[in-house]
Amino acid sequence: MHKATRFRLEAHPHIPEAIARLEELANDLFYSWDHSVRGLYARIDLPLWQKVEHNPKLFLRRVAQSQLDEAAENPAYLSEYRRVLSNYDAYVEAEPGSEVLEKLDPETSLVAYFCAEFGFHESFPIYSGGLGILAGDHCKAASDLSLPFVAVGLLYRQGYFIQTIDAQGQQVARYKSHSSDELPITLVESDGQPLIISVPFPGRDVFARVWQAKVGHIRLYLLDSDTPENSEEDQALTLQLYGGDSRTRISQEMLLGIGGTRVLAALGIEPTAWHINEGHAAFQILERCSQTMVATGLSFEAALEAVAACTLFTTHTPVPAGHDIFPKELMMEALGPYLEASGLEFDRVFALGGRHNNGGTFNMTSLGLRGSRFHNGVSRIHGGVASQMEADIWPQVLPQENPIGYITNGVHVATFVAPEWSSLFDIQAPNWKSELRNPEFWEFVDKIPDFHFWSIHKTLKQQMAEFTVERLRRQHERNGTGYSVTKRMTEKLTSLEKDVMVVGFARRFATYKRATLIFSDLPRLEQLLTNPERPVVLVFAGKAHPQDNPGQQLIKVIHDLSMRPSLMGHIILLEDYDQAMARRLLSGVDVWLNTPEYPKEASGTSGEKAAMNGAVNLSVMDGWWGEGYDGSNGWAITPRATELDQEFRNREEARDLLDLLEHEVIPLYYSRAAQGYSEGWVARSKASMKTIMPRFNAQRMVMDYVSGYYQPAVQQGHRLMANNGQLASELAQWKEKIRSAWHGVSIQVHGCVQERCKWDDEVELTVEMELNGLAPEDVRVECVVTVECAGTHGETGPEHFYLQPVPGHKGKKTLFSTSVMPPYPGLQTLRIRAYPYHDALTHPLEMGAMLWA
Ligand SMILES: *Cc1c(COP(=O)(O)O)cnc(C)c1O
Repeated sequence: MHKATRFRLEAHPHIPEAIARLEELANDLFYSWDHSVRGLYARIDLPLWQKVEHNPKLFLRRVAQSQLDEAAENPAYLSEYRRVLSNYDAYVEAEPGSEVLEKLDPETSLVAYFCAEFGFHESFPIYSGGLGILAGDHCKAASDLSLPFVAVGLLYRQGYFIQTIDAQGQQVARYKSHSSDELPITLVESDGQPLIISVPFPGRDVFARVWQAKVGHIRLYLLDSDTPENSEEDQALTLQLYGGDSRTRISQEMLLGIGGTRVLAALGIEPTAWHINEGHAAFQILERCSQTMVATGLSFEAALEAVAACTLFTTHTPVPAGHDIFPKELMMEALGPYLEASGLEFDRVFALGGRHNNGGTFNMTSLGLRGSRFHNGVSRIHGGVASQMEADIWPQVLPQENPIGYITNGVHVATFVAPEWSSLFDIQAPNWKSELRNPEFWEFVDKIPDFHFWSIHKTLKQQMAEFTVERLRRQHERNGTGYSVTKRMTEKLTSLEKDVMVVGFARRFATYKRATLIFSDLPRLEQLLTNPERPVVLVFAGKAHPQDNPGQQLIKVIHDLSMRPSLMGHIILLEDYDQAMARRLLSGVDVWLNTPEYPKEASGTSGEKAAMNGAVNLSVMDGWWGEGYDGSNGWAITPRATELDQEFRNREEARDLLDLLEHEVIPLYYSRAAQGYSEGWVARSKASMKTIMPRFNAQRMVMDYVSGYYQPAVQQGHRLMANNGQLASELAQWKEKIRSAWHGVSIQVHGCVQERCKWDDEVELTVEMELNGLAPEDVRVECVVTVECAGTHGETGPEHFYLQPVPGHKGKKTLFSTSVMPPYPGLQTLRIRAYPYHDALTHPLEMGAMLWA
């Protein structure tokens, strides 16, 4: 048969003058969190809006002229249009609040935020999971707060893959290219020409053009190697997120870190604090050192001090897959030409990524930590875990004392809280948007009448069920599943008047997240789910990385269980999890389940989103839930000790999970009175919403970054760079002196220390130090007091006392002494230690050197 050539032609409508600003709104990611902006498109043609996957730009290109004309003449539409625009204009014009102004003066400060992925909305697919969504939420909250803030990333034309699950339960990964004119971005120009930056690569330069995305108040710059200056191979460098091999990865990271820094310089943007969000972007440190050396003539070491002083590095996972490690040969080959062109020495740079026990490789996390003076993990538990994992960066310092802190992740409320809830808040507590960080304010949730609260939940649950059924049908029709099977699969959700309890589990299928833990005792689970009086439906969704076979195996296991006749309709597996599906599931389920292997869930954020919509968390005490759970707002599974055998832990924690479901969760849900809902359940749901909303939202998170890191980083950067980097130079020279002398420094207790005294006596402490050429001012000698066995006073320390050099002491050694009054009653432990100290240090222990007497 003859096949005719097909041409694609897209006939674009004219946008009528009366609604012309729909185009402007389509170019501001404001739409990604503002439901009423999205409503302006959806109202014009709902089926098309769904077909274009909620993409405003694509919508405006494909919508029929007649429908636009109709909207432009419809008074109701026009009045909504004007309302939405005046709201938008007010948002864009808002100035930073006093709390921000006190900490970050927009005249003199600017934060640059680098990340490999950004998840704003399903229409802009340059994210894969939690890290990207978090970066998107960070930008959105920075915009809400009008922070002086700019973000840098890569534009992936194909983004992350699209997932289908076939009839055998196999994940199939497909990639779809997005042309730039359907994304909410504009090409960045300089002097009327597209701005192009380049980075030296082996045997050639690689070029990138630059796109700008508008996110309310802030700008995101995205580098794109798909430009005619590059070879075909190089054009594909930024094609896919987390695709290719380690050479692709290092190339992308060079573009992000080095290229991204060059973009800001080319645009005349001069950040005063730099936030490296995960190791992928850590090469920016090298480019900034090189730029600083050129501008000031400082040595590499001095430039590194100046650069690190205003840099924050955030680590996001203890799981090895999240930490890029490159072999030395690859580093030499890929980075060599750049380093040579920039006058940086390979060995010195390579040392920044070295590890204690792994001399032959380069670790991007180590580079991030050595090239920054501010570092954090993303929950209290993870901060501790990261301190342990990265302890060898500060070899003589105890992990619990090293400079890694934490800020617990939060989520962007407007993005993830369903509009039905925000409308209710508008009525019940009109200024809720400005009280997002005030836990007392959120007590108002308790005042919402139960029936009202529950009816909103039921509406959202209905929407979730319709969405789930629709998606499930589509997926199974394609796979050729028979009608009767699909019908049985969906019948629990189509007869929601029975109000079946629905449990959601959706996130990346990484093995540590243990998606199948709940199936550990299948007969018992089956009884729980299929009890005719109290049935339960489990809904699963998530992607596994295409190279993660064990992750894909989890999908198959769940698929097979969902097809078992005895479980049919009680286990549902949806394909192609994305942000749109997340919003539906999170706001519609009753219970949000999370069963990670402790302590590998650094934070997790989906449970926060669920809670803000009134879902109740049932989760292992890991990540954010370690701080979020208060006994009344959900259920917690206590992880077994990590020293125990993994299979044993899985079994025990699975039993806890089923015990909780059987004895607490399901009975509470179904203890319904005549009004049709369980009062006890509504109480828990309200507790979940009101306690988690004010503590785990992205504005709280970003303000913690402002106070804890951005403000100090700006100050420390200014301090070290004043007078052409004088202090940075001094500090670098001083560190060099310490490094070469420290191996010969020693400390000993001088004389004997009393073992008993009266509580108001003073105790003399003296140590004798061999300083190996260092001055007494180069070290801080400190006595640390802790309580071993506390009575009712409860305090256990530590308290710190400094020992001072003893003047006029003759001899080779230097004496330091002090007299202390015991800070605690009874038995306490005194330990004396010394570490190098200089006033210009950002953290007193940043050198990682310490000696104990
Ligand atoms: C919130 C979110 C995530 C992160 O989920 P976790 O449970 O924290 O791993 C991943 N993907 C999407 C689409 C999300 O919205």
